[in-house]
Amino acid sequence: MAQDEETPETRLARLVLGLRSQGVTDPKVLSAIEKTPRDLFVPDLFRERSFEDSALPIACGQTISQPFIVGLMTQALNLEARSRVLEVGTGSGYQTAVLARLARFVYSVERYRTLLAEAEERLRTLGVANVFTRFGDGGEGWSEQAPFDRILVTAAAPGEPKALLGQLKPYGVLVAPIGRGPVQSLKRYVGDGKGAFKTETLCDVRFVPLLDGVAREL
Ligand code: SAH
Repeated sequence: MAQDEETPETRLARLVLGLRSQGVTDPKVLSAIEKTPRDLFVPDLFRERSFEDSALPIACGQTISQPFIVGLMTQALNLEARSRVLEVGTGSGYQTAVLARLARFVYSVERYRTLLAEAEERLRTLGVANVFTRFGDGGEGWSEQAPFDRILVTAAAPGEPKALLGQLKPYGVLVAPIGRGPVQSLKRYVGDGKGAFKTETLCDVRFVPLLDGVAREL
């Protein structure tokens, strides 16, 4: 069968096999990706490319993350079924939907109203019921809901995200791209239970920047 005649399920299954060969080995994470229809989160113009392992443009000059990076970051979070997770940068809502399959509750913050409204609509369509969203500056976290077991930042922070680390539980895990340039380091911070963190660098990544404040337009 020619590739363009394949069903979305077949293409998604092939994408997942590729992620596994690249090091996303956690079966729960792979299964969550396989069950999340990425084509629903991609703009019409790029729908044909939904199951390619690449980041794609979405509204407001932002991007939907590359599936491999979504897999890697989700795996690095070490989620538990009872985890309460803060996500900074809802974007298309794709990463949010993957997290929602693996965690108890996901709290997601986005600085563009348009993106947030579209993501909320998609999550509703999929029947995802354990996600709470908020329009705001996610760099400040979500103090009313803190502390969190896990925090995932899907935009590049210029340096150590102190405000967010302050909203993490004592043994919590935070994963974020850190750096000011076009290429950043994906870092994982693991709480030692005494207010300090063990920091590891996982790989190089390319994310849009974490910006201060909310977008006034859009
Ligand atoms: N996980 C998303 C990635 C979106 S790109 C997806 O897979 O679709 C990163 C997102 O972070 C963008 O939507 C951008 O608007 C948002 N963002 C950047 N700075 C932010 C901030 N301070 N607070 C909340 N969201 C922010």
